[in-house]
This record gives sequence, structure tokens and C-alpha cells, in this order.
Amino acid sequence: MGAGNKRRYILLFGAQGSGKGTQARLLQDYFDIPQVATGDLFRYNLKNQTELGKLAKSYMERGELVPDEVTNAMVRERLSQPDAQEGAILDGYPRNLAQAQALDEMLAEWGGEVTQAIYIEVSEEELLRRLTGRRVCRECQATYHVVFNPPKQEGVCDRCGGELYQRDDDKDEAAIRRRLEIYMKETLPVIEYYRQRGLLTTVNGEQSIGDVNREIVAAVLNSDEQ
Ligand code: ADP
Ligand code: AMP
Repeated sequence: MGAGNKRRYILLFGAQGSGKGTQARLLQDYFDIPQVATGDLFRYNLKNQTELGKLAKSYMERGELVPDEVTNAMVRERLSQPDAQEGAILDGYPRNLAQAQALDEMLAEWGGEVTQAIYIEVSEEELLRRLTGRRVCRECQATYHVVFNPPKQEGVCDRCGGELYQRDDDKDEAAIRRRLEIYMKETLPVIEYYRQRGLLTTVNGEQSIGDVNREIVAAVLNSDEQ
């Protein structure tokens, strides 16, 4: 179902494993605007061994942020594509204040703005459970969980039939902890930045996938009226 023609830039925040990717895929169908996940874009470049992929590789392996200039340029390029002219659901970006400012400038240049920021809140204990059981489709990047959201057939994507795999950074507990630590340090101030601008809605992420989705859709539709 589409939900009107308003141009929307929806930001999804939450630590790794909070369900951003899962929700972004549901929202893109609902609002008919694409999911733009910087982690997926980097993994695509890594897989295809592009210059960008080679540059991002070492940062990703360590669970660190890829430099801002590189990330901002990649997002600018993606948001300029024809399918993103009515907006996008940004997942995993902006991750620090410099990226948030770069995004504001980029959207202002195009006469747009951030319409809504959603923070999906989940406890650390639950995040670890989710990340260690996460499986991702090699073809379409859809995410599953071996226990909480299993595919109909083990190892096979329900959406496209692609092969499911476990991300390297989800296998390594040290890398998981490093990513969560960086998240707290760099991304929480960004969430505060949007809270202060009155754009933030916090959603309890420890509910079913459907219930989290209903709360996010309600918050976005509510922000349209303001
Ligand atoms: P993120 O994009 O924030 O890193 P994902 O969307 O990849 O998170 O979700 C992480 C893992 O948790 C996946 O295995 C996913 O299937 C599972 N998951 C997502 N939302 C929920 C939920 N509400 N309840 C239980 N498991 C969930
Ligand atoms: P994610 O799929 O969001 O967990 O991202 C995987 C990895 O990609 C991160 O650990 C970073 O190395 C890199 N990455 C993703 N998004 C960003 C971003 N906005 N800024 C810098 N690096 C990023």
C-alpha cells in the first residue's frame, strides 16, 4: 500500500540488531520510497571489489566507521537516483554529527528536509541475541533470525530464493561489542540532535516486528499532520 505523495526522508536509529533493516524493508513497501542502508551499500561494494569497497573493507572488519567524506559522497550519489526523488528511508546514516550536518545541507540543496526520525530502543542483552542469530540474503539483503524470524526453508530467502549467510562482523563478538560501543559514543548525540528539533519518536523495539512497524507508521503519518 502506498501512503500519499508527500516527499519524506525518514531516519531510522537504533543500535546494531535493533531491527532497522527489518523495519526499513516494511516501510519501503508501505511508503513506496527506497530503503537506503549505508551498511548494505558498503557490503555491495565490498562484494563487487570496487575502489569504494576496497577502501571501506578495513574499517568494516574492525567495526569502525568509514570516513565521513566517503560515506557522505556515497549517500549523495544514492539519493540522487531517480527512485529516490520522493524521499528515502535512511538506515544506518547519519551515524555522527558531521554526517547529520552533511545530510541537512544535502537535503536543503534539493529543497527537502528530514521529515521524521525514529529511535528503535532495545536492551544490550537482546541486541546480542539478535545479532548472533541474524542471517542475511546474499541477493536482496533481507534479514532473518534463526529463532525469532526464520525463513520458511532453512538457508533460503523467502523473498527472492537467494542464499542466506551470516555476516562476518556478526560472527565476531569483539567486533559486535566494538560496534555497540561506537554506536553509544557517536550516534546517541545524533539522536539527541533530532530530539531537540522535535523530530524524534522513540519506539519500544522489544515487541513483535508487526507491532514495532505499526508504531513507526503511526509516528510518520502523525508527523505529516504537523
Ligand atoms: P539492524 O538493521 O538494526 O542491525 P536487523 O533488522 O538486521 O537490525 O535485525 C537484527 C536481527 O533481529 C535480525 O536477525 C532480525 O530478524 C531480528 N529482529 C528484528 N526485529 C525483531 C523483533 N521485533 N523481534 C525479534 N527479532 C527481531
Ligand atoms: P551496518 O550494516 O549498519 O551494521 O554497517 C556495517 C559497517 O559499515 C559499519 O560497522 C561501518 O564500518 C560501515 N558503515 C555503515 N554505515 C556507516 C556510516 N553511516 N558511516 C560510516 N560507516 C558506516
